[in-house]
Amino acid sequence: MRLRQRYLTRNDCYRAGRHIQVQGVMVHSTGANNPRVARYVPGDDEIGRNTGGNHWDRPGVGKCVHAFIGRFADGGVGVVQTLPWDRRGWHAGKGARGTANNTHIGFEICEDGLDDPVYFQAAYREAVELTAMLCREFGLDPLADGVIICHAEGHKRGLASNHGDVLHWFPKFGKDMDAFRADVARELEGGEDMTQEQFDAMMDNYLARRGRLPADPWAEAPLRAAIQGRITDGTRPLSFATRQEVALMVHAATKA
Ligand SMILES: [Zn+2]
Repeated sequence: MRLRQRYLTRNDCYRAGRHIQVQGVMVHSTGANNPRVARYVPGDDEIGRNTGGNHWDRPGVGKCVHAFIGRFADGGVGVVQTLPWDRRGWHAGKGARGTANNTHIGFEICEDGLDDPVYFQAAYREAVELTAMLCREFGLDPLADGVIICHAEGHKRGLASNHGDVLHWFPKFGKDMDAFRADVARELEGGEDMTQEQFDAMMDNYLARRGRLPADPWAEAPLRAAIQGRITDGTRPLSFATRQEVALMVHAATKA
């Protein structure tokens, strides 16, 4: 996850400064075709800059979320946190039974034309990782009833205004909120299956750390003899020997 922090300190919601006991996370999407985070935050060189003056870091906007997921200046997808996590946000509106603003962190995924699987996958992935991070931080169970919900689900529960997000988008790419909750739970359990590349990197790291360990005490005398006989240079005593290193050692030993 690529997470940056730019609080919208001029937004009236930020200024209201109320706090909540975080009990869940509400997933939104913006409902407008503009995947750039800088549409909503003033931004900078990394995030991109808002040039339209229509960002949310100003008085009178009347809404505010805790984070936006969307494209940064380099075209890659990332997360910008815009409110402290435990500040009361203005994202859910009112439902028949109240508002999730009092209980839930809310973030927006910036929509594109809802037709690009590559952008969807990248934004969805950031949303999974962000939600998993928040579950860890606030001790939330992503599979428990009502904890991780989207705006549309919040409306059904009487806790949000009548919006359809994100159920007009996720199903176009084979996802729904049950899949999202399951993906968050999987992420919390240690992420997706490891790739060969990740394994290779970890193996290299493991071997490098092993190579820096000192020899066991029982091996010190024979190791000294082997160094004197030029069979080994004495480095990396706890590293594994490759077959070519063994061949070199045997060759040196027969000449010694
Ligand atoms: Zn929404």
